[in-house]
Amino acid sequence: MPELPEVEVVRRGVADHALGRTVASVEVLHPRAVRRQPGGAAELADRLIGRTLVAARRRGKFLWVDLLGPDGDPDGAVLVHLGMSGQLLVQPAERPDETHLRVRVRFDDGRSELRFVDQRTFGGLTAVDTVDVSDGGGPELLPTPVAHIGRDPLDPRFDLEAAVGAYRRRRTELKRALLDQTVVSGIGNIYADEALWRAQLHSLRPTARLTRPEGRRVLTAALEVMGEALAAGGTSFDALYVDVHGESGYFERSLAVYGREDEPCLRCGTAIVRSSFTNRSSYWCPTCQKVPRKSRTRPRP
Ligand SMILES: [Zn+2]
Repeated sequence: MPELPEVEVVRRGVADHALGRTVASVEVLHPRAVRRQPGGAAELADRLIGRTLVAARRRGKFLWVDLLGPDGDPDGAVLVHLGMSGQLLVQPAERPDETHLRVRVRFDDGRSELRFVDQRTFGGLTAVDTVDVSDGGGPELLPTPVAHIGRDPLDPRFDLEAAVGAYRRRRTELKRALLDQTVVSGIGNIYADEALWRAQLHSLRPTARLTRPEGRRVLTAALEVMGEALAAGGTSFDALYVDVHGESGYFERSLAVYGREDEPCLRCGTAIVRSSFTNRSSYWCPTCQKVPRKSRTRPRP
């Protein structure tokens, strides 16, 4: 799954090449790419044609493009679901179609077109309504399906202290809280493990017993690791090709703990441990990240 930095690379590509352009036609080449749209391909086309793409935005791993109607008023948004392997490409019209091209958007300027390419077809495009979720800092329109998603640490309006407070009020474990997209968005399984390792905190740490400095430490670590991944992703970004790596991608070489089972911890040399976490894995250092006392004792049968 692409994580926040990969999604941000796609967002920047759209922002650089597709904004200010008005949709002339929408061609859906595979029905699965519009399966989230109740009225299918016809509805997607109906809600996009004649609309101008005005802003490419992201909250956590959610990516969307704001639309302006012919009258100049906001007119909803188009959500881009990258799924496992989705890519948004800005391509010259004369370039041959990609094998896994699913949706083609042409603009009225006749220049390059926007192509949604998706080998595994878990992704797609959906035109949706927006809702104003202003929280005191001025009006803010969000697509309805994104309205409940918290700000991510890269958002200029992200409030670190408020997020730490929200974690401490929860009755859960730290990694579960980090993955809960309604408090802080954009932290996926890989970056949660990296942030916990940097902050030297265990994934099973009860959030109710998290101190404020520890809360700040883990969120600051998450911000840093995502920022570094973003910098790494930005380097492989080429003008016309909006690139997304479906798996762990180009940042993989920079990961300190994720995927490094039995390899030495980069801080203390202890072998990294992998344990199961829901249907995925957690990677951690048993020396740097102490298991919370309560979960060391097994409940009696
Ligand atoms: Zn260690």
